[in-house]
Amino acid sequence: MKLDVLAFAAHPDDIELGAGGTLILLVRQGYRVGVVDMARGEFGSRGDMETRMRECAEATRIMGLAVRENLALPDGHLQNDRETQLRVVEMIRKYQPDIVLTHHWDAPHPDHQVTSRAVADACYLSGLAKIPVDWPRWRPRYVVYHQVPPYVVPSFVVDISDVWDLKLQAVLAYRSQFFDDPQNPQPETALSRPDFLWRLEARARFYGSLIGAQYGEAFVLKEVIPVRDLVALLRPPERRPQ
Ligand SMILES: [Zn+2]
Repeated sequence: MKLDVLAFAAHPDDIELGAGGTLILLVRQGYRVGVVDMARGEFGSRGDMETRMRECAEATRIMGLAVRENLALPDGHLQNDRETQLRVVEMIRKYQPDIVLTHHWDAPHPDHQVTSRAVADACYLSGLAKIPVDWPRWRPRYVVYHQVPPYVVPSFVVDISDVWDLKLQAVLAYRSQFFDDPQNPQPETALSRPDFLWRLEARARFYGSLIGAQYGEAFVLKEVIPVRDLVALLRPPERRPQ
């Protein structure tokens, strides 16, 4: 099945947090969108793997993805090695996406950094005929990086105001990862702190404010975008009634 957009993330829930709104919008716009997670999250501090896989299926349904795969690589120990690159090449060739999304290369989590580099490398390798993967060669046109570090100026921001509620639903599908009960004996993580949703919203509000929208998701491109119609590119979006 050919996809328009294929997003790679290290762990289930990463893509919902980084680009969930954008993927939901793309599905609404009629594009075929898929997600590949590199690991199943068995190293996660909270919940177990089976629960997380169930939660992931629920988030996938909410986002309306055409495809969601998990490469089941070792969580916490992802490597940008030959095996990982070939597994990613297989996904790229199988789904022939025009656009690939992956983590920003300067992400704090080592698995996110490795995913970013492995996916970018695989996008190039996938275009080489002699790479030993049983699918015809395919090179995506663009690699787009999500979860932009706060000190990086985004290349563009997607207005996700219309789908903010759905993004939140997809994020909250991962119930085991979030704050529930102060007596819960499981270890606290960034996601399980009570102010996590407040911080998620603050971030989306900040990026939205950069483009005059309520909520936004930020992305970085290494390539320069070609422009054929400057007026169409910079035309203000139609204002929704207040
Ligand atoms: Zn992660």
